[in-house]
Amino acid sequence: MRDRQGREIDYLRLSVTDRCNMRCIYCMPSEGVPLYDHAEILRFEEIERLAGIFRTAGIRKVRITGGEPLLRRDLPVLVAGLSRCGFDKLVLTSNGLLLERHAGALAAAGLDRVNVSLDSLKDEVLAAISGGTASVQAIEQGISAAIEAGLTPVRVNCVVLKGLNDGEIPDMLLWASEAGVHLRFIEHMPARLGEARFLPAERILAAASVLGETVSMGREPGGVQTTWSIPSEDITFGIVAPVSDPQFCRDCRRLRLSSTGLLLSCLSRPEGFDLKACMRGGADDTALLGMIEEAVEMKPAASTGCRNLSMWRTGG
Ligand code: SAM
Ligand code: SF4
Repeated sequence: MRDRQGREIDYLRLSVTDRCNMRCIYCMPSEGVPLYDHAEILRFEEIERLAGIFRTAGIRKVRITGGEPLLRRDLPVLVAGLSRCGFDKLVLTSNGLLLERHAGALAAAGLDRVNVSLDSLKDEVLAAISGGTASVQAIEQGISAAIEAGLTPVRVNCVVLKGLNDGEIPDMLLWASEAGVHLRFIEHMPARLGEARFLPAERILAAASVLGETVSMGREPGGVQTTWSIPSEDITFGIVAPVSDPQFCRDCRRLRLSSTGLLLSCLSRPEGFDLKACMRGGADDTALLGMIEEAVEMKPAASTGCRNLSMWRTGG
């Protein structure tokens, strides 16, 4: 599928739950959020049916996300179903807390890779960022289990927050190199926290360059990260700059399906197509395919600002 900008749309971010066992300050309110009723959430057979239609429409890569996707009961059963749809890549983003327990079953079910979010190597900083819900050790054990299960290359996402974890950028790079994972620093999108914690990509890069000269390896085609290397340390890493990069949306390939079956063409557009209501109302595959194509047609050229995001709900 091509949108009006001529971009090929072949990547679906699939949220399987709005629940989370962490309370990252940039994502969820600490008091928690009103959760959807169980009946509102797409059932596995509904997700698999839609996945088959997305595949027909030309989606080649699916990322399972949330909320925290590992909280969805029997997730490996869904992974096995999605794996049968024949996507080129089936990957998952997790906060890592439950990964040690589930990595083997996910790999056996056909998952290709995982991205794990880890914002600090210091327990007290991670506690401040996660609302006291996470331990570095548990996430590191999850990462090791993922590597052991072959869910590689493991990517680690670190949202950089000024005054909280920005002092750890060099240490995180050395840690990632030692752990055998690919680290990506992500600019904080000031949705909940406002601008005060925002650190632009150029400052992230400057912090990394205390380890040695940084050399740009360019932006991966159709991807969101700019890859950098520090040849003197044999380190490569990524920076994802949704806020400061004016070209960030240029190569966007994504659609998003929320856990309640809302199809979103862009993070900055909360209005979506209610595939669940149509499906439960008896729509056939051709009608659902038509809605997917319409969502692609409606994709904006660029984000109009992602200030009111509920990432745990839209599957950030
Ligand atoms: N719970 C899983 C996790 O944290 O990896 C998956 C869902 S989470 C919404 C997906 C990604 O969105 C995480 O890497 C998280 O760091 C990122 N994210 C959430 N809110 C963000 C924000 N305001 N700015 C930048 N990234 C954000
Ligand atoms: Fe949960 Fe992920 Fe949001 Fe953190 S970023 S609160 S782990 S959904």
